[in-house]
Amino acid sequence: MSELGDLDITDATLIPAPDADQLPGVTIRIRSGVITQIERGSAPAGGEEYDAGGRVVVPGFWNCHVHLTERVWARAATVPAGRLQQELDDMFLVRGFTGAVDLGSHPRDHVAVKHRVSSGELVGPRLLTAGMGLYPPRGLPFYVRADLPWYIRPLLPQSSSRGAARRAMGRSQRRGAEVAKLFTGSYVQPDRIKPMPLEIARVAAEEAHRQGRLVFAHTSDREGLRIAVEAGVDVIAHVPDAPEGTEPLLQEAARRGMWMVPTLEMFAQTVTRDPSYLEPVYHALGVFLEAGGRLLFGTDVGYLTDRRTRGELEALDACGLSVADVLTMLTTAPAEALSVGSGRLDAGEPADLVVIDHRQLNNPAQLADVLATIRSGRVVWPRESA
Ligand SMILES: [Zn+2]
Repeated sequence: MSELGDLDITDATLIPAPDADQLPGVTIRIRSGVITQIERGSAPAGGEEYDAGGRVVVPGFWNCHVHLTERVWARAATVPAGRLQQELDDMFLVRGFTGAVDLGSHPRDHVAVKHRVSSGELVGPRLLTAGMGLYPPRGLPFYVRADLPWYIRPLLPQSSSRGAARRAMGRSQRRGAEVAKLFTGSYVQPDRIKPMPLEIARVAAEEAHRQGRLVFAHTSDREGLRIAVEAGVDVIAHVPDAPEGTEPLLQEAARRGMWMVPTLEMFAQTVTRDPSYLEPVYHALGVFLEAGGRLLFGTDVGYLTDRRTRGELEALDACGLSVADVLTMLTTAPAEALSVGSGRLDAGEPADLVVIDHRQLNNPAQLADVLATIRSGRVVWPRESA
């Protein structure tokens, strides 16, 4: 099978972009991995055909918060292809993800996976990574200290000077990181958050921007959020889950055009579903949204062991977000934030798309019902038996 597919998708109910109307009975013609034509009616052209049977077809999804840190990714260059393919399928392709942002993993493993995908040995999403991230001095999160082998811990930069922060950003870029991640508020203990000194965060963000990288921050609380906003961070990687006193900062972040990846289901699954914990988190998201804040979809899979997306989609629905809002988070918003195309399905665009097992969409949770994932014009899920 060639890398870039030729395919005619027939009888699609096309939603070419989150704000567009549904177009029933559409044929999508794909040549060499690119959409060449979208037309009403059936127009068989003798090429390979996928009959969508009237189901909804939407642009490929981005998961903007993942980690390739589970044991299976360790020394990924030498792991048998079949084993890694299972993981790529289950983490990404089954869920409709044709793009993903890894917010912290060993560069060696990430680079190996990306290489094996781009060489065609493995089938996977387009992957971007933040590399190792940057932590406050003596500020590794307790859950990172618990999970990581001892020999990796000294590799995690915990810069205590501006020069060290600048060098750390240079090193991560040389090791293949396309985005950056700062722990401006690091949970050093379950009940203690350590802030990153503002001048460190500022120089790191400046350096990453100079390198053309989007900067994500794990903020945790008011102080971590203040540092992220003042340092010029672009994306808040989770709703602050100690949100007391963050309202004015969330409004300021929205005014500055910052993005946020909520990761609501991760909080529910890894901390507690107790409403006294979750309700302030939901409220903080509401404050950011009401101020015009922009969202990206992300689950924190890799840290979160549950790879399903339904829980996050249902949580976003519970926050009052519409199908169009959530489709925006999955497609056009990441395209804009990450400068990776348009996130729309138009002639001339890459043929990354998802077939949803419904004939119309009226609830965000339906986006979990992925029937097929098409990447560069190839049906990558479900894969034809080899
Ligand atoms: Zn994470």
